[in-house]
Amino acid sequence: MARLVMKFGGTSVANVERIRNVARHVKREVDAGAEVAVVVSAMSGKTNELVAWCREAAPVYDPAEYDAVVASGELVTAGLLAIVLKDMGLNARSWQGWQIPLATDAAHGAARIESVDGARIIAGFAKGEIAVVAGFQGVHAETGQVTTLGRGGSDTSAVALAAALHADRCDIYTDVDGVYTTDPRVVPRAQRLDRVSFEEMLEMASLGAKVLQVRSVEVAMVHNVRTYVRSSFDDPADPRLGTLICDEEDIVEKQVVTGIAFSRDEAQLTLRKVADKPGVAAAIFGPLAEANINVDMIIQVVSDDAATTDITFTVPGAEFDRAKALLESRRDKIGYTALQGTPDVVKISAIGIGMRSHSGVAARAFKALAEKGINIRAITTSEIKFSMLIDEAYTELAVRTLHTLYGLDVKA
Ligand code: ASP
Ligand code: MG
Repeated sequence: MARLVMKFGGTSVANVERIRNVARHVKREVDAGAEVAVVVSAMSGKTNELVAWCREAAPVYDPAEYDAVVASGELVTAGLLAIVLKDMGLNARSWQGWQIPLATDAAHGAARIESVDGARIIAGFAKGEIAVVAGFQGVHAETGQVTTLGRGGSDTSAVALAAALHADRCDIYTDVDGVYTTDPRVVPRAQRLDRVSFEEMLEMASLGAKVLQVRSVEVAMVHNVRTYVRSSFDDPADPRLGTLICDEEDIVEKQVVTGIAFSRDEAQLTLRKVADKPGVAAAIFGPLAEANINVDMIIQVVSDDAATTDITFTVPGAEFDRAKALLESRRDKIGYTALQGTPDVVKISAIGIGMRSHSGVAARAFKALAEKGINIRAITTSEIKFSMLIDEAYTELAVRTLHTLYGLDVKA
């Protein structure tokens, strides 16, 4: 008998009518003989509303109580789906995080899962019961307080539950029908991928594709959970195909480039003429790390006078002002002649496991962008991806150019 976890995001459970539609998807799998655990998000917009209420209640609030508030959205949808399933004549019950229990650490607001006990849900399967699980939440064992997993965390709930239940698959139902070669709003000729490897998906999710919470892909990779991204807006009686995220070994045709991701949430900073001597990089990046500012790309130019050098790096767009202020305040300690920077940059990345065995992949991109007159400000590479920082104004042109270059356009 197949065992499935089915996860439905906020837009899929936005109102009772949509919850009824979700129930039809569940019924299809149950009728086909599967044991099913369903994981639900809060109704779309609900979590934002709850977060706003916390802020309104007090400018500084106890993160544990924030979790108590924001975890409530998922309780509502889990209860409602169980009611609807029962009304359809199915056997179902809802589960809150602490009832399972899904145990996490104490990092309220961004807790990490420590263990998921599948025993009670599996006992329910033996009685023919569908488990309807509130996503996004867990419990800290020592304090008994409710925790949440960070925004978008119900994807991670679902994958972790699938691992604990030894499910055959984790189906993530969302408002798109899969993972695309790039954002279809930017490139209309983007295609849905049939399969993508865990590693590629991890890169795509961290580099700007927003289909899944990054953490959920990490959990899927570690536990080898076959994760299927598909649309909840399909006819429940006749669903279409989605994208399977799976082990590399299950992918027969390994593409050199599988997808193009981009992130506008980047800012560039450059320090001119810093001393070219040991300890300078530490003097710059140590304080940034202490201030919890994530540095991504770093380029240090080889100096021509052997005395000074230029260092360029990127930080998240939202941290631009803070990073700048911090470096200005340390100008004397670091020693530089000028601090320059702009938030108007975008990081464009090409990802593909085939890059491991092909050379010259990035060089083709550099040439193609040069032919369009696009200047590359910074480059980084790793085993299965390379990223380029360019002016934000050229985002569309660059993404389209690379998409075509690597043969990703859907055939007309
Ligand atoms: N409801 C939570 C959020 O909006 C968790 C989720 O939907 O995955 O972030
Ligand atoms: Mg989501």
